Amino acid sequence: MQKYSQLITRPRKLQYGILSLLAIAVLVGSAWVLTIAQMPGKQSLGFLGSYGTAVFIFEAISAILLYAHYRRTGLLTFAVLAMAYLWVTVLAPFQVGLLTENLDTFSLITATTGDAAWLWIAWHIGFPVLITAAMIVDGSYPIITRRIRRWSLVLFGSELLIIGAILAATLLSWFELPSLVSETRQFSDALSLIYGPAVMFCCAMALTVVVVKGKFENAIYSWLALAMLAALCEAIVVVYSGSRFSYGWYASRILNLVSSAAVMISLLIENVHLQHKVVKQNQTLKRMATMDELSGLSNRRELDERLKAEIKRAMRDRTTTSMILLDIDKFKQFNDTHGHLTGDLCLKHVAKCLQRNILRHTDLAARYGGEEFAILLPNTSEDDAFDLAEHIRKTIAYSPIVMEDGKMLSVTASFGVASLVPSQAEDATELLSIADASLYSAKRAGRNCVQRPSQSWHASREALEKKVSSNTHYLRGRTVSTGQKR
Ligand code: GH3
Ligand code: MG
Ligand code: MG
Repeated sequence: MQKYSQLITRPRKLQYGILSLLAIAVLVGSAWVLTIAQMPGKQSLGFLGSYGTAVFIFEAISAILLYAHYRRTGLLTFAVLAMAYLWVTVLAPFQVGLLTENLDTFSLITATTGDAAWLWIAWHIGFPVLITAAMIVDGSYPIITRRIRRWSLVLFGSELLIIGAILAATLLSWFELPSLVSETRQFSDALSLIYGPAVMFCCAMALTVVVVKGKFENAIYSWLALAMLAALCEAIVVVYSGSRFSYGWYASRILNLVSSAAVMISLLIENVHLQHKVVKQNQTLKRMATMDELSGLSNRRELDERLKAEIKRAMRDRTTTSMILLDIDKFKQFNDTHGHLTGDLCLKHVAKCLQRNILRHTDLAARYGGEEFAILLPNTSEDDAFDLAEHIRKTIAYSPIVMEDGKMLSVTASFGVASLVPSQAEDATELLSIADASLYSAKRAGRNCVQRPSQSWHASREALEKKVSSNTHYLRGRTVSTGQKR
């Protein structure tokens, strides 16, 4: 079965290096902390405030980004991972708030019979259990797009109900929960010998599953492994410390921050990569949408767009727009004699001849279809367009196509030129059809030549332009007089 988790990028070697160093730091740091873990420390409200805020922000960002991954990929793994982080995002502030309960100064939340330790257990068992569940569903087929919202509602809705029940049980004293921390802030045997080891077991289980199933194959799973390692060390250090606000207890909070930040960092890195990829893909798509693959020139769609825009601009400025259409002569015969692949080479060669001769950045060379090309020349007179067409005609005729075996083939092309001062949007079509008519007469004149519109067309066009011009003056006059009246 395809591993759908591979929709996420693989980390680079540098990331693996940083991860390894951090893992060593967590292990060595935790081992060292065990030597001073039981020393009593001061109670610090400031620490609790900043720690609680940091955990909340880190976990909330991770939950949102994981949810975004789930929406993007439809992979259940990310939905369950988002649930794990949502779990902590909601429970952590209450747990940290409850820790202020026994401090002399003031208490953010008071719980009569419950204990912050119970919330800590719920937090630290629920989180690794959800991580384990997320890894178990890894590899399953993505959820189809229209069901993603429905699944979200069921998963996150039921999770929030469970969280609500846990909070109510601890904060509203639904049950008489035995106190796990004494007045002197010492942990009870139940916490040290049963619940603490249960938390350790869950963290170890999650770490094992993340390593064995995740195989560090993407950035999120790799950083998740670090997060679970830090969570396991946190549980060991805090249980070993034996009391709240001891050195070990503070160290375990730091380990908790490492655990919280790890996945958030990986998700932010992933997002930067995704953004980069999207920008690149957009550029490729834009190029594909406007370019002709074979010739490397603009395609018909781009020509049509530019022509439309150019006609509008020329109408405003009353400037001449020209068009050259060219068609390779007897190309069918060329293909039949030399094969289609050589025919393609010929098309590329002609495209290069066009590119070499088009020097103004406003000019646009495009593949119009099959073996026909078009050159749009804004602000260019018919004479100049004719001269350019003649120049390109000679370039094509006198520069042979050099084949791999040294053989030289030559082709010629016929050209049709058209120019007009546009007065309406439809002149875009008129320009193309006149250039096409000129091209047709070039073919009839024996090919390998340039033709321009007939005298009769010029005469009728001049009459039309005069009419439009006098109409414009009339309209302008009216506009001015209306303006003056006002
Ligand atoms: P004329 O001088 O009258 O233009 O004759 P012609 O043979 O060039 O014109 P015709 O329209 O009969 O043939 C055009 C040929 O162009 C037929 C088609 O196989 C070939 N052609 C069109 N697109 C491609 C392409 O992308 N690659 C290749 N190799 N050939 C193409
Ligand atoms: Mg043709
Ligand atoms: Mg042809």
